[in-house]
Amino acid sequence: MVYLDNAATTPVFEEVLNKLSDYYRQYFANPNSVHREGQKARHLIEKSRVDIASVLGCSDEEIFFTSCATESNNTIIFGMIDTYPEKKHILVSPIEHKSVLVPLSKLARNGYNVEFLKVDRDGVVDIDHLKRSIRDDTLMVAVIHGNNETGVIQDIDTIGKIVKHKGAFFFTDAVQSFLKTDINLDYIDFMSISGHKINAPKGIGLIYKKKEIKLSPLIYGGGQEKGLRSGTENTQLIASLAEAVKIWHKNRQVYSHRLSSLRDMFEEYVFSELDNVTTVSKGAQRLPNISNIIFHGVDAQSMVIALDGEGVCVSSGSACSSGTPSPSHVLLAMGFSEKEALSSVRFSFGIYNTAEEVKQTAEKVVDIYKDLSLFFKKL
Ligand code: PLP
Repeated sequence: MVYLDNAATTPVFEEVLNKLSDYYRQYFANPNSVHREGQKARHLIEKSRVDIASVLGCSDEEIFFTSCATESNNTIIFGMIDTYPEKKHILVSPIEHKSVLVPLSKLARNGYNVEFLKVDRDGVVDIDHLKRSIRDDTLMVAVIHGNNETGVIQDIDTIGKIVKHKGAFFFTDAVQSFLKTDINLDYIDFMSISGHKINAPKGIGLIYKKKEIKLSPLIYGGGQEKGLRSGTENTQLIASLAEAVKIWHKNRQVYSHRLSSLRDMFEEYVFSELDNVTTVSKGAQRLPNISNIIFHGVDAQSMVIALDGEGVCVSSGSACSSGTPSPSHVLLAMGFSEKEALSSVRFSFGIYNTAEEVKQTAEKVVDIYKDLSLFFKKL
């Protein structure tokens, strides 16, 4: 099996897996209990928080653990409108993950003025449009740092500066970009991160929040995580996340280089063999691990299924919740047609992939595309 769906999720680091059973055996007590076993678990959580904060370059008081990035994004959005009810205007990029767009569409139905920022053909946010659209009553601007479908990286420093200058909050979803590219926290008020994209287990995420900014919780109860996220902390997953962050941080240069070499090798081969394909966001700065290719004239689901038959796991950009695939909102916002969006396949590389695997996959992709093109032409 060749797994090229690392933007969907990653396998857990062996080192983390090996530590997990010890975390469960040694640190099972409730970290909120005052006895020594509880305090042992508390110490592990707080040490994990400090370790992650030191990688991010922030204070440990600015890190709040959640169950996933979907929860982080929901907490940030609903927490902000609850804390700051006076401002009703929100700007958001149209290429956000659904865990940002769906909560915002709920706000739009409830009287908020939610406006989309323009993006260009590469999926890069139009800075002039942001400058023209931001207002005195803008509560927040939400722009994803590294896109999960195309890998495009936004200039969050420039965006953040404009947003802060206008007195609004800047929120960025850094789920895909964390540890794959630099993040300067200077202009970021809120940020979300998820463990399972960086070889930690699923079920753990976090919110970065600037110390001086208030935020109401989404989940109320025992007041854990300084009241922002009630519920007994998941000591084991928090410690696993910290471990994965440390491994990534230590090997960042090597991983980045490996991932971008695999991606480039893959794209070069596919392009040298095929004419009728487009690499999405090729003209922009991209994350090292994502390659989104439009296979013109061929339905992406058929490519995904054919590759699966060959033992290769990839994703199409389209969502398929009702049996009929719908085109990716990200590609549509970038100006691709529905037909083109339904022909896009995402290959996302991981640190365990080898050059040989990627070479073989590229060859299979070329063969499958040639066969499917003939088939779809006849239809
Ligand atoms: N944001 C982005 C950009 C993502 O890619 C994902 C997951 O695919 C999420 C948010 C949601 O993360 P989680 O699975 O931790 O809820």
